[in-house]
Amino acid sequence: MKAVVLHAVNDLRYEDVPVPALAPGHVKVRVGFCGVCGSDIPRIFQKGTYHFPTICGHEFAGTIEQVAADVTGFKAGDRVAVFPLLWCDQCPACVEGKYVQCENYDYFGSRRDGAFAEYLVAPTRNLLQVPAGVSLEEAAMTEPVAVARHALRRVAPSLVGKSVAIFGAGPIGLIVAQWARAMGAASILLSDLIPQKLEMARQMGFQTGKPDSADVAVDAAGAPAALLAAMRVARRAVVLLGNPAGDLQLPAALWSQLMRREVTLFGTWNSDYSVTGTDDDWHAALAAMAAKQLDLQPLISHRVPLADAIAALRMMKDGKEFYSKVLIKP
Ligand SMILES: [Zn+2]
Ligand SMILES: [Zn+2]
Repeated sequence: MKAVVLHAVNDLRYEDVPVPALAPGHVKVRVGFCGVCGSDIPRIFQKGTYHFPTICGHEFAGTIEQVAADVTGFKAGDRVAVFPLLWCDQCPACVEGKYVQCENYDYFGSRRDGAFAEYLVAPTRNLLQVPAGVSLEEAAMTEPVAVARHALRRVAPSLVGKSVAIFGAGPIGLIVAQWARAMGAASILLSDLIPQKLEMARQMGFQTGKPDSADVAVDAAGAPAALLAAMRVARRAVVLLGNPAGDLQLPAALWSQLMRREVTLFGTWNSDYSVTGTDDDWHAALAAMAAKQLDLQPLISHRVPLADAIAALRMMKDGKEFYSKVLIKP
């Protein structure tokens, strides 16, 4: 099969690799679409991953091509989204069902080969059926949609009547905004330095600009300036969602303000997934897509064939053109 393989930092190659072998309890998925995550760019071009060679790509959905003989509940032709974390099922976090805190986890697209490839083999317990009416393009965004929901649910079981300010209008910020709307927030405002991102936000019906204050402020950028801005406006809560891009120096006056306002800082990490549940972040993400509570199509700025993926990843690294969600189509 064809795949985009990372051989070393900044050494990507589009090449032929063996199709992964089917194992008991697993299915072979023909990858339909794989999104490029913000974290993929530093992984590929700066930091590298756990070992080389590795096929990146963890935000994906596809169609089952083949199932192992012992598999029940899934069959060839089923459309599936795949939870990319493989948990050990033994450690205390796993026993609690907190798979993203697993002490011995594996991960498609970073610790093991992911979905910048035509095929991938996954265990059935990581699969979710894609509901009718949800495209594979949308289903490929289940991971960021689940992450965004998880972040807001950390702050408040209900956002009804609340004001939400989101710093960073990239795909994750825009999805947070859509969830906030679906959850009943009274006002939603996005802030960003890039005008095209704000234009996208306005086209989705959101306000943009600078708020004076908001009940909940989300740093969806990971830039120190964005987090400081979130801290300045937050009346009740700040959500740390973006991956830190650098050290943060907290001015004493702002520090004091956070105390005075009794602001709570919420860390959020990844998303909750349940094999049997219906209200975990992953099942809720797909259900919200099926119910048209979220509109993900406008987030997609690029659809790129796998053969052109390397050029697209370089474009993202260099910021040569405007992009929001980039989907690779193997
Ligand atoms: Zn991701
Ligand atoms: Zn575990």
